[in-house]
Amino acid sequence: MGVIGGGYAGMSAAAELASRGISITVFESAKQLGGRARGVMFNDTQLDNGQHLLLGCYRETLRLIELVGGDIEQDFLRLPLQLDLHGQFSLKAPRLPAPLHLLVALLTAQGLTWSERMKAARFMLTLQRLNFTLPRPLAGEAWPVLSLSKGGEGSSDITVSSLLARYGQDATLTSKLWEPLCIAALNTPIHKASAQVLLNVLRDALNRTRADSDMLLPHIDFTALFPQRAAAYIERNGGKVFTSCGVEAIVPNDNDITLAAADGTHTFSHIICATSPSVAAKLLRPIAALAHSVAQIDGLQHQPIYTVYLQYPPQVRLPHPMLGLHQRFSQWLFDKGQIAGQLGLLAAVISAEGIHQELSQDELAQKVIDELREEFGITATPHWFKVIAEKRATFCCAPNLQRPSQHTALSNLLLAGDYTAGDYPATLEGAVMSGVKCARSISA
Ligand SMILES: Cc1cc2nc3c(=O)[nH]c(=O)nc-3n(C[C@H](O)[C@H](O)[C@H](O)COP(=O)(O)OP(=O)(O)OC[C@H]3O[C@@H](n4cnc5c(N)ncnc54)[C@H](O)[C@@H]3O)c2cc1C
Repeated sequence: MGVIGGGYAGMSAAAELASRGISITVFESAKQLGGRARGVMFNDTQLDNGQHLLLGCYRETLRLIELVGGDIEQDFLRLPLQLDLHGQFSLKAPRLPAPLHLLVALLTAQGLTWSERMKAARFMLTLQRLNFTLPRPLAGEAWPVLSLSKGGEGSSDITVSSLLARYGQDATLTSKLWEPLCIAALNTPIHKASAQVLLNVLRDALNRTRADSDMLLPHIDFTALFPQRAAAYIERNGGKVFTSCGVEAIVPNDNDITLAAADGTHTFSHIICATSPSVAAKLLRPIAALAHSVAQIDGLQHQPIYTVYLQYPPQVRLPHPMLGLHQRFSQWLFDKGQIAGQLGLLAAVISAEGIHQELSQDELAQKVIDELREEFGITATPHWFKVIAEKRATFCCAPNLQRPSQHTALSNLLLAGDYTAGDYPATLEGAVMSGVKCARSISA
């Protein structure tokens, strides 16, 4: 078995196969594993290729981290659901069973009027009654700004903006609660984002157990958290993981598949292609039988994520390990001192498209520095900053998106990756679930 790509999808597929006693070889083009969720060293400081967080409902990711030797309670700082837009809005879930914890959190949220809190709580109750599945519009019923454009017949997905308007979520509720949630979860602005995919995330995070809505921030970097441990696990189980060994071509034969890699050719019975969508399209394009998968990949659009890391003097800290800002450039701020013991290191995350893309990296860092001074009185000058701009961080999670299936027209060539078909937006859990699905399907 061969796996192309050592990101979370590829390493999950490989670890799952290894756990079933199947010999596996992973080819990763970069020097280190992890892909978009990898550790990055800068100025002798361990950073990530963008600050990430996991949710308690990321069951497959958490299971696999433990399979390869991690320990969830030791590896993560676990924060109970709390959305804090500094000075503007605050929602904190009490220690009650789900989904009661959320309803009480909505009814006691700071920064909303009583009527706004009631509207938000009623909306959540309606979503629960609908089992977090969008209803089909009745004949003759018009959804506001309904876009049923690209979906299949009977499809009822709409944008998040349309959903919020449909259920009376006004401008304040939208800008303080739903918009920050949607951008954080889907990395897509609400006027472009799929309501159904947002509901899938809300269903899994908010509606089952209270721990599902916990936010998990790792004490270690994202390469060490899973891919590096997975590589050791795969090798202990007889497999191989090659880094700096990119695959340049995939050549299907009658009964097997040959990969042309940086170190020569390798032939396998099955291949899982677990690269980013653009590389997958490049590798699959020469294979005529895969034209449908390639066309679907080509149809995906992308959204950026910017992370601004700032190293302040060690005494600088935020009031909370993670908190948001309302209508500022910095959407979410993370205090790496409180999360990972990296005193004075702050990270500002700016997800999805926006005017920040018109600024130079120095200008953007200066905006974040100004916001930290204005919001928290941090007057110290950072020793250094580092802007990591991932222009194609995730696919744009639009309504009715036709994402390529893990199964292709070649039964022994499968696709894994956060962009492949699934309930989730482009997330670690989506990537991991796709890898596990490929592995299970091959081993079956
Ligand atoms: C800045 C940022 C912040 C994010 N924040 C979050 C978050 O908070 N929570 C969350 O759940 N998700 C988050 N995501 C999304 C998450 O990182 C991705 O969904 C996930 O990492 C995708 O994994 P993947 O394995 O599908 O793809 P990738 O990570 O892209 O992995 C593909 C791998 O294939 C390798 N490769 C490419 N070409 C070749 C080749 N020719 N031969 C061999 N190997 C090759 C690449 O080097 C890479 O290692 C974030 C993403 C970014 C960029």
